[in-house]
Amino acid sequence: MVSPTLTVNAMLRRAMRLFPTREILERMDDGSVREVRYQDISRRAIRLADGLRRIGLQPGDRVATLLWNRAAHLEAYLAIPAAGGIIHTLNLRLNPQDLAYIVNHAEDRFLLLDASLLPVFEAFRDSVQLERVFVVGEPPAGAGLERYEDLLASGNPDEVVPEIDPETPAFLCYTSGTTGRPKGALWTHAQLAIAALALTSSITFSISRDDSVLMTVPMFHVVGWALPYAALLVGSRIVFPGPRPHAQDILDLLSGQQATFAAGVPTVWHDIANLMESNPGRWELSPRLRVVLGGSAAPEALLRRLEKLGMTAIHGWGMTEVLLGLQAHVKLDQFQTEERYSWLAKQGIPAPFVEARVVGEDGREVACDGKTPGELQVRGPWVATSYYRNESPEAFDGGWLRTGDIAVVDGEGYIKIVDRAKDLIKSGGEWISTIELEGALMGHPAVEEAAVIGVRHERWQERPLAVVVLRAGQQATAEELRAYLAERFVRWWLPDAFVFVDALPKTSTGKLAKAELRERFKNWEWE
Ligand code: ADP
Repeated sequence: MVSPTLTVNAMLRRAMRLFPTREILERMDDGSVREVRYQDISRRAIRLADGLRRIGLQPGDRVATLLWNRAAHLEAYLAIPAAGGIIHTLNLRLNPQDLAYIVNHAEDRFLLLDASLLPVFEAFRDSVQLERVFVVGEPPAGAGLERYEDLLASGNPDEVVPEIDPETPAFLCYTSGTTGRPKGALWTHAQLAIAALALTSSITFSISRDDSVLMTVPMFHVVGWALPYAALLVGSRIVFPGPRPHAQDILDLLSGQQATFAAGVPTVWHDIANLMESNPGRWELSPRLRVVLGGSAAPEALLRRLEKLGMTAIHGWGMTEVLLGLQAHVKLDQFQTEERYSWLAKQGIPAPFVEARVVGEDGREVACDGKTPGELQVRGPWVATSYYRNESPEAFDGGWLRTGDIAVVDGEGYIKIVDRAKDLIKSGGEWISTIELEGALMGHPAVEEAAVIGVRHERWQERPLAVVVLRAGQQATAEELRAYLAERFVRWWLPDAFVFVDALPKTSTGKLAKAELRERFKNWEWE
């Protein structure tokens, strides 16, 4: 039996009752930082829930958000599910066609829109049928848009937070659609509650009341890794970076607010490491700062740099359908040794109640030898078992999600992602891991960023091509990089060509856009 208290509604009641004076900081559009309290946000969430009901929100209705990480987004995270609706976060970096597809597929009724994102909305507005749009900030006159503050003002702040069945759907987020059409993952109240609780575990991120959590991961993507709910559950101090945060804004907040926890894709931490290294002494971080790197593989060289800069790094693996699946900490017994970096560079062990298996082509689990690759499959309390209004039986195997990631597992249960199945290079019938080559290349002092892709080859089917961005003012030739890799890999793994470019393309979530690179180099002529 699922307890009736495993709900967003119970989280809202708890935040209000137990932590009314805890602070929430928000970096505003002009760069200033304003402070509110849990009690302010909770009361506003109750108003918003009531306001939504008054405009006709019915149980199960989808309310979309197109918002930066700000206090209003947290209000939406609480109010929409509390009112019985489903919050549907829109990725503000998707192209207009994908946004229109997602809004139409989800049949969103209402939208909460950041005033600074009006141009993003205007680009797909005519392709969707939203009933009403409420703007956080000032809406332009005569555009048929309403004020979010008016919607709030119409709600009663003294409403009691109602009971709700924990199995009620609460949260909808679509994949970024790197392969085919975006697909929706839907979480119930109970799934969100358990995922939030899991983040407070010492085996994951130990989110606690003593933390000052800088909400760096976009809340429009994958429930912000459930961090907003986890922080509320334990009464952490929360800092929102607001609109368009650049690496420097994040550093100013990390240091100015003495944040003790932040999470993001490796690219973000890479930019932060660069800034800190080129401006020594400018930012003073909390000695307790833990940072999670997830969303793509964290290169060992980056983990070393962050530690040198005084941060404790945690490596996380997840996907839209999974939220958090695996995480790696330094193992205590390896803590003082060099070896800890190679542990950290693995994606780690499953989060509490998540089960993972690595399945070979014969359908059986592979040997736990750290060498034999197979497909990573996961299941767990908050892992999707189907897609929203989309039959995709190929994605699931008897309750296990087929992740499309190729992994190896060692004798201690540590999982290492070798590659995405579609990125893996098949050369002469053998596979080559692009993640490993990229991680190693990024350890070269002259390399800023690197991507390795498979390009069609007459004799070997595919061969690796490295696309490299050099650090400003640094030089390296293809021969030097090849020799550097040759110290670490067998000869047939080494890229046959190195192309030097000014920048690498990124996806809407800041990851390497490998599909785009493959397209760009599809007619590459090997010498
Ligand atoms: P989204 O970012 O929308 O969840 P995807 O679902 O496409 O986009 O991203 C999930 C994928 O990202 C995983 O399947 C995996 O390939 C990759 N990924 C996430 N975290 C890591 C990690 N720590 N190491 C390697 N790959 C990762």
